[in-house]
Amino acid sequence: MTLLEAYHRLDEAWGPQHWWPGESVLEIMVGAVLTQNTAWSNVERAIANLKAAGALSMQALLALPLDELAALIRPAGYFNVKARRLRALLEWVSAAGGVEALSGWTDEKLRSGLLGVHGVGPETADDILLYAFERPVFVIDAYTRRILGRLGLIDPTMGYEHLRAMIEAELSPDVPLFNQFHALLVAHGKAICRPRPRCTVCVLREGCPAATPTRLPPE
Ligand code: SF4
Repeated sequence: MTLLEAYHRLDEAWGPQHWWPGESVLEIMVGAVLTQNTAWSNVERAIANLKAAGALSMQALLALPLDELAALIRPAGYFNVKARRLRALLEWVSAAGGVEALSGWTDEKLRSGLLGVHGVGPETADDILLYAFERPVFVIDAYTRRILGRLGLIDPTMGYEHLRAMIEAELSPDVPLFNQFHALLVAHGKAICRPRPRCTVCVLREGCPAATPTRLPPE
């Protein structure tokens, strides 16, 4: 099986995923930080709090005292850490001239700038690059490693950058494809290719070297 074959089977099974849930570049950036180590449902509650407080704007987020920001994003967990990370990201955006100025940066400059921000690792940076700035970078996360590793398409122990470069080299740079593929891997990893995989109902079963045998009903 190739990466593209896996993509098409997942796409047919799951349909359009409409990622990333967020109404603006700023909201996607905020969500990318808040989603670190937590479920998306918790992020939604934190973002709802920010909206209800009228705080989901660059100006408001930068003006809020850190403890108030932390209280608003409490549902996302690690709220003191994430408040500092959000503040660092927004200060960087502001110092760079805002979202519009960043939109004019090259992919490399934008990625390297994001990676220089406190608390922004490769996965968060690539979430922001792909979903907020529509740049052709492939996001690697635990679902990517698990599913593509089980399919034998990647070595799941490879480092982030190596893996990203390998997948990007195999697929042509294509923002809608990368957007939908990552979202499909998350959907499939949550529901089917779980730590204990549900191979019997998996659309990737045919050709998957890690597929567990079908359990036949008793005669
Ligand atoms: S067949 Fe099983 S191991 Fe392979 S991708 Fe599907 S759920 Fe995962």
